[in-house]
Amino acid sequence: MDTERKYDVIVIGAGVAGASVARELSKYGLSVGVIEKEADISFGATKGSHGLVHCGIPAPGAPLRSGGELRGNVGFEAVCRELDVPFERIGKLLVAFNAAEVEALGAIEAATTAHGVAGLELIQDKGRLKEMEPNLSDAVVAALYTPSTGVADPWSFAIALLENAMANGVGLRVNTRVCGIKRDGSDGYVLETTAGTFRAGSVVNAAGAAGAVIARMAGDTSFAIKGLRFQRIIMDKACGGMVRHLVRGLKNGAAAGDFAFPTIDGNVMVGSTVEPMSDMDDATTTRGGLCDWVIPKYRQMFPTLSPDKAIKPFAAVLPLPGPEFHIAPAPESPGFFNFMLGVSGFTASFVMAEHLVRNVMEPAGLRLAERADFNPRRKDIPHFAALDNDARAAAIAADSRCGHVVCRCETVTEGEIVEAIRRGATTRDGVKFRTRAGMGRCQSNFCGHKTLEIMQRELGVPVETITKKGAGSEELVP
Ligand SMILES: Cc1cc2nc3c(=O)[nH]c(=O)nc-3n(C[C@H](O)[C@H](O)[C@H](O)COP(=O)(O)OP(=O)(O)OC[C@H]3O[C@@H](n4cnc5c(N)ncnc54)[C@H](O)[C@@H]3O)c2cc1C
Repeated sequence: MDTERKYDVIVIGAGVAGASVARELSKYGLSVGVIEKEADISFGATKGSHGLVHCGIPAPGAPLRSGGELRGNVGFEAVCRELDVPFERIGKLLVAFNAAEVEALGAIEAATTAHGVAGLELIQDKGRLKEMEPNLSDAVVAALYTPSTGVADPWSFAIALLENAMANGVGLRVNTRVCGIKRDGSDGYVLETTAGTFRAGSVVNAAGAAGAVIARMAGDTSFAIKGLRFQRIIMDKACGGMVRHLVRGLKNGAAAGDFAFPTIDGNVMVGSTVEPMSDMDDATTTRGGLCDWVIPKYRQMFPTLSPDKAIKPFAAVLPLPGPEFHIAPAPESPGFFNFMLGVSGFTASFVMAEHLVRNVMEPAGLRLAERADFNPRRKDIPHFAALDNDARAAAIAADSRCGHVVCRCETVTEGEIVEAIRRGATTRDGVKFRTRAGMGRCQSNFCGHKTLEIMQRELGVPVETITKKGAGSEELVP
């Protein structure tokens, strides 16, 4: 991105919201840039998302969210196919432990079916439940099965969206914080950032937790963002087959926070606390959250899934503009648009981006001319672990670095790490999110230093300047 040019649209924030909008805008003949304060795509709330593609749960009073979730679920496969992102419909079992909860499941089934979600089934045959989910507690008496619930890696999805947008001409500036916004005469905005001044005809505010702060810079005080913290645990792949669906408990007749599900990468995730937070940056885990809540809760559903298989406890804060998404022009600032997601924001991201561009920005005056040369396809880095032996042999013959396994837990090669760097990773988390190097059982204890050596060589920088996730997280003490 360049400070001399005036962009048609600048998007603030490179989470799944900003990445979706950037890709949507790249379908039209517009100059578009994305400005992100962190060192890479998806380093905000998106990286902490569960990555569940929800079925389309009715949310009374929140038509954008409930409609977006439903359409997002239906369309997720197709967009993942275009972007070469793994996605799987794992299905959901909402479980009941007593007669009152079975009655609640019946009500949820009726409401969800009426909302348009297909294939729901209330299963009260315990034998069948055991077949579907062999390690489920005997105390479960029934479950509401929703086949369409899916899962994907949220960071892989956001990176793929933005890589595709960039291949279609979108610019990206990372390590660049927007600090001030001014009107540019009568036409557009000037964004003051830590890396200079950028100009745009229109601005999309996709800054997640900082959304209200960014809006205020443009004179919009019409909304606030609240936070919800979720604490969870990732289990080792050794227990991958122990949970086959998203299995979720009930609270007061609705789906509760407690769950267990198989991630798209073959681990199991268990969780979760749901804690209102005033500090949006407080993504700490607590003994009370994990030991007193998450572990006992998931063990009610899966008593034999032992916590000694935990490899990573972690937390993230969900930025919430309210029960409904806030997707609207700023009241007094023409050409400034807020794109604030929230619950189910991952599922609905790309359909809501289309809604913003077509139903909000175009009626407000943004001229959309479809590009004949828009290419919707993007290819992922070929992952050695997922290749068959012939493909592995071919990859090694083409580049011997593809035969050098760096991360033993996840079977990630030097070739993949080099390609991740070529695609824009400058931090160890950036490499991790693109390759899974360091995401396995040892959590990078064996491959961390080797990854740093490769990064030093490829980036041509002193090793002590390489960070985990941006300035202030240097990996080595000089
Ligand atoms: C723990 C958790 C679990 C979730 N689970 C699910 C789920 O299973 N299914 C589902 O559908 N949804 C889920 N969600 C919701 C969904 O993931 C979020 O709605 C979505 O990721 C929000 O994306 P975003 O791009 O708006 O925010 P972010 O990812 O936070 O992106 C905003 C970006 O703006 C940048 N930024 C902020 N200020 C500035 C500035 N001044 N200058 C430049 N850049 C700036 C930030 O650095 C950040 O990268 C979950 C969310 C969380 C946190």
